[in-house]
Amino acid sequence: MAKEKTLEDLFHDTLRDIYYAERKILKALPKMQRAAQSQELKAAFEKHREQTEGHVERLQQVFEIIGKAPRGKTCDAIEGIVAEGEEIMDEFKDTPALDAGLISAAQAVEHYEITRYGTLRRWASELGLADAARLLEATLKEEARTDEDLTKLAETSANQRARKAA
Ligand code: FE
Ligand code: FE
Repeated sequence: MAKEKTLEDLFHDTLRDIYYAERKILKALPKMQRAAQSQELKAAFEKHREQTEGHVERLQQVFEIIGKAPRGKTCDAIEGIVAEGEEIMDEFKDTPALDAGLISAAQAVEHYEITRYGTLRRWASELGLADAARLLEATLKEEARTDEDLTKLAETSANQRARKAA
């Protein structure tokens, strides 16, 4: 008979998924920073790259709390989201719509992270892992804040620039 799988297993599996995703994002952000046209967007990507290093560290702490080695598990979702971002960089290169497109790609990443951290935080609480829940909550807040900051950048400059060109 197959081994019973529990919420602990789901938690560990999903932790490995987001650990893989965060490290993928860490590699993608410098490319997005280089591609960005406006200084504000470059700065936003740099700020979030630094935060992302902290997200990786927090995840390592969560692995330690549950007594597991920090190991990622291929996350097809982030692979697809990052690939779409690269497509935008490619197809909108040197156009006034590039920054608006980069923001949309970055927001897809943040939303993916928000769903994962939201679930993980809830599971951590339910599993009685209060310290892990606090770590996951701290990252969740930074992802949500980043998403809001990107919306502001889109609304105050990037979308307008993209539209004007028409
Ligand atoms: Fe993150
Ligand atoms: Fe993020």
